Amino acid sequence: MMATDISDVLFGTPAPLLSRVNLGVLKHDEVNLVVHGHEPTLSSLIVRVCYEPEMIEYAKSKGAKGINLTGVCCTSNETMMRQGIPSAGNDLNQELCVMTGAVEAMIVDVQRIMQSLSDRAPKFHTKFITTSPKVKITGATHIEFTEHEELNIARDIVKIAIDNYPNRKQVQIPSAVSDLIPGFSHEYIRYMLGGYYRGSFRPLNDAVMSGRLRGVAGVVGCNNPRTTQDAGHNYIVKELLKNDVLVVQTGCGALANGKYGLLMGEAALEYAGPGLREVCEAIGIPPVLHMGSCVDNTRILTVLAEMATEGGLGEDISDIPGVGIAPEWMSEKALAIGAYFAASGAYVLFGVSSPIANSEEVEKS
Ligand code: SF4
Repeated sequence: MMATDISDVLFGTPAPLLSRVNLGVLKHDEVNLVVHGHEPTLSSLIVRVCYEPEMIEYAKSKGAKGINLTGVCCTSNETMMRQGIPSAGNDLNQELCVMTGAVEAMIVDVQRIMQSLSDRAPKFHTKFITTSPKVKITGATHIEFTEHEELNIARDIVKIAIDNYPNRKQVQIPSAVSDLIPGFSHEYIRYMLGGYYRGSFRPLNDAVMSGRLRGVAGVVGCNNPRTTQDAGHNYIVKELLKNDVLVVQTGCGALANGKYGLLMGEAALEYAGPGLREVCEAIGIPPVLHMGSCVDNTRILTVLAEMATEGGLGEDISDIPGVGIAPEWMSEKALAIGAYFAASGAYVLFGVSSPIANSEEVEKS
């Protein structure tokens, strides 16, 4: 929760904007950079550098039409919800991006970086660049990010990508791409529900009390290679929408359903039950709200706390008809977040299998 608040202080509180997601955001005729990991510090500077006229001219001097910055995983969620930078997809898209042969550089910070990328990347001409002192991978180029020389480091990295453009060989970019609207911070949801002077969660509580909404679900978390990518997220969310449940998403789950167009207003017409559809049309929101990266799940807790404080549904988070679901989780962080939600009183469900299932004692506790 502190990390989310401090990120908002440093980089701005997100508000809805239009962006795109899936491998089709990569471009045939531009230098493609992919930022990957979980931290917005370096990536927000890379965004800035990619728009510098000298840098764009430099890319043109190498035969490209421009610079195309994209991302995967939650660094991508960070740059997408604040700067509208398109996302090449979620966790299990990281190797697929490289295998298009169109990625000049993949720049990673921390968490969920597949070590296999250092073997994979050179085969598809991609420069694989690690930037955090916590993540050094054999075979990768390590350019450590330090706050004192931040812009120069970002420029060096973008130049490496541009210099690599003429080395492209066979390129195959899938055409799949969808629009999505990320950036629903709890501050913005409050504003949407009542405006600047009368912002409140009352309309949401009223919608639940009148039966138009049956509840709120946070469908969050990772991809898991033990199950078909995105299938769990997609199935559960469509069932919830059909049953008049407003869905909020973060992390790879949000990107999963973004690929299927569920994070657009039009999805209410196609998938939502009559009550949810009415609420979405009245407020002007999609039936599935993107609330940030996976470290931003605390934004969802804040919504639940605000609903409890508003009154009418009970005294505590445990009284709210809400659920937190991680259908394809796999990281330790997902477990920690799930524990935080359960301890806060939320009903929590985890999908796939449990890595501690063999220890009866640990599982019980
Ligand atoms: S949701 Fe899971 S896989 Fe996706 S970025 Fe977050 S921790 Fe990584």
